[in-house]
Amino acid sequence: MSRSAIERGVDMAAAKDTMGMKAPLVLIVEDEAPLRTLLAYNLESAGFRVVEAENGEEALLLLKETQPDFVLLDWMLPLLSGIEVCRQIRRNPAHRQTPIIMLTARGEEADKLRGLETGADDYLTKPFSPGELIARMRAVLRRAHPRNDPDRLSYHDLSMDLVAYRVKRGGREIHLGPKEFRLLQFLMENQGRVFTRAQLLDHVWGQDIYVEARTVDVHIRRLRQAINAGGAKNLIRTVRAAGYALDAEV
Ligand code: CA
Repeated sequence: MSRSAIERGVDMAAAKDTMGMKAPLVLIVEDEAPLRTLLAYNLESAGFRVVEAENGEEALLLLKETQPDFVLLDWMLPLLSGIEVCRQIRRNPAHRQTPIIMLTARGEEADKLRGLETGADDYLTKPFSPGELIARMRAVLRRAHPRNDPDRLSYHDLSMDLVAYRVKRGGREIHLGPKEFRLLQFLMENQGRVFTRAQLLDHVWGQDIYVEARTVDVHIRRLRQAINAGGAKNLIRTVRAAGYALDAEV
């Protein structure tokens, strides 16, 4: 690299710092070198900074050394599996909230549940487009850094006033039952994150009450009918064999 290129790089980094907009640092954990390189290239093009690990052990070392803002984690890694790496990241208090997206190969549908319950925020099935990956990452980052108005939640043209107990989409007032209201509130507070039916039951209905997982589907259907009335864009993504997310279908 020429000296001027290095200086430009330093200037840019300094400029971003003074503006308080330092680009998020993404730890890419992937054992396939060509895919890792491609991911790094695409993320850097989208304005992220990256650091790369080729296995789980290296990932855990780099996690401590570099304190990344985001982890992209391949499931199928040699020695220490992606799921074990995810578990260890979550066990570390400094990284309990660090967003994690898991990358899985085809045919691992049943394992996705396990990934989400281990603490991953979302997952993508290979092959995926760079655009899809970056859209999912931005959705997870929005959830990680919500705006600081505790009484008001918003997503796209949807807004919730938690004090007045009102929901609006565009200018249209939406009437929700108590469970749908609570369900929407929970999804709005955790935008972009995928939850299994069991997790939604725990958070919205409470752990002590016995309710069938199917009940979640019924209330999601009612919630969708209410917020999507009149042909508005669907904002609740169904994740096959896993659950739901407040996240426009990609
Ligand atoms: Ca792999």
